[in-house]
Amino acid sequence: MCGIVGIVDVGGVSLPLYYALYALQHRGQESAGISVFDGDQLHKHKAQGLVAEVFDTKILNTLTGKIGVGHVRYPTTGANTPENIQPFNFQFMGKGFAIAHNGNLVNTRELRESFEKAGHFFCTTTDTEVIAALIADELRRSGSIEDAVRLCMTRIRGSYSVVMAYDGAVYGFRDPLGIKPLCLGKTPGGHIIASESVAIDALSGSLVRDVRPGELITIDLEEVRSTQITKVDRKAHCIFEYVYFARADSVIDGVLVYDVRRMIGQKLHEEAPVRADAVCPVPDSGTAYAVGHAEVSELPFVESLIKNRYMGRTFIMPTQAAREQAVRIKMNPIRKHLQDRSIVLIDDSIVRGTTSRRIIQMIRDAGAREIHMRIGSPPIQAPCYLGVDMPTRTELIASGQEEDQVCASITATSLHYVSLEALVAAIGHDFENLCTGCLTGCYPLPIDGEDARSRDIEFLDVTVQLNLDTFSTTK
Ligand code: AMP
Repeated sequence: MCGIVGIVDVGGVSLPLYYALYALQHRGQESAGISVFDGDQLHKHKAQGLVAEVFDTKILNTLTGKIGVGHVRYPTTGANTPENIQPFNFQFMGKGFAIAHNGNLVNTRELRESFEKAGHFFCTTTDTEVIAALIADELRRSGSIEDAVRLCMTRIRGSYSVVMAYDGAVYGFRDPLGIKPLCLGKTPGGHIIASESVAIDALSGSLVRDVRPGELITIDLEEVRSTQITKVDRKAHCIFEYVYFARADSVIDGVLVYDVRRMIGQKLHEEAPVRADAVCPVPDSGTAYAVGHAEVSELPFVESLIKNRYMGRTFIMPTQAAREQAVRIKMNPIRKHLQDRSIVLIDDSIVRGTTSRRIIQMIRDAGAREIHMRIGSPPIQAPCYLGVDMPTRTELIASGQEEDQVCASITATSLHYVSLEALVAAIGHDFENLCTGCLTGCYPLPIDGEDARSRDIEFLDVTVQLNLDTFSTTK
């Protein structure tokens, strides 16, 4: 759970990177960073905090260059320490090298150990540094980024969308199953690779297409190239991006996230209709679902909770007590909309159950008679090892508990989770092409102690120049 971006722009990249990271802020609020290459050296700035807290005009003015990468971090592996803030910058054979990563490797430990046995030092506790070490190892031998990324892909297992700035170019590659999103866009002054299309929109650019699973995109001031490094018969796009993580206005792997959520809202009514006075979203994540529900149920869409926009996501609170207090600060009920009413309350997911329980209590205290909870994902039963920050099985409320037990625990009048079939149909990709690990406990690649539907990965060697409109390099 992180946001990444790489930009080449003839007018300079520091502001475009800043705007793109701003658009990707929902993907990580712990820290932000930018590394820019000026043709001679890398300039960087990174710190803990939100994008707006980390950068100001003075700092952005020091980040001169036409090539650069940026990152917003929400930690999945590696401690919450300053050295783990990305992008990471290295000096390699006299050249600057910057890298930023979204995803999570599942074989980091073995790889680190083999490097350490060979005398290699690591400065951070992240899997990203392992990716960098593998790339440097092969670059040293062959001098070719394509070869280095290919070698790296043969060694690492897990989810990874990566951007790098090296030797006058920005590179972006996506894991062979396409687990985490990554897309390519054209901007007025160049090109961009980013986690989500909203970053392209923020620069008034246009989405060219998603980076393909196993593809390496190279962008320099002259051209954009595609190298297909791996081929797999199936994909494993993260289903949770559509449910919760991505912004509703992003298009991911050809699908507008808002459409998925709206359609699921419609399905929630079809699967579990209920007599009520209004349909209310849990803001903001439940809004598109509630719009869809209201369309087909013909219940009025009523906002009954107002969110304090200036608070980060409550999930990062370290203790249960802190999380419970945070929910109360984050949301406030509108009593007048709830008094003596029966409502359908819609949210995207239930993880630990803390949020739902607190919200239902608040809404009941505000006078609601009945609260019919409708959830835009099936029960989350299993941990995520591939990049979404999910608790362990024992903390997941739906792990080992039936729907009626969860309903009693969150004290709702009724509860319905959307079916997996309806969720998959709303996304429009085949079930086989989605990672549903958190919902089914079956993962798209081997993970110790877990079930897997593993796929054969074929390595290829095909590089083409993409036929995109050329852009001026003289501006
Ligand atoms: P809870 O059931 O209290 O653990 O939290 C569930 C709420 O947190 C959901 O309504 C989501 O909006 C949000 N959420 C779901 N998954 C995550 C996640 N991995 N990180 C942060 N927030 C999440």
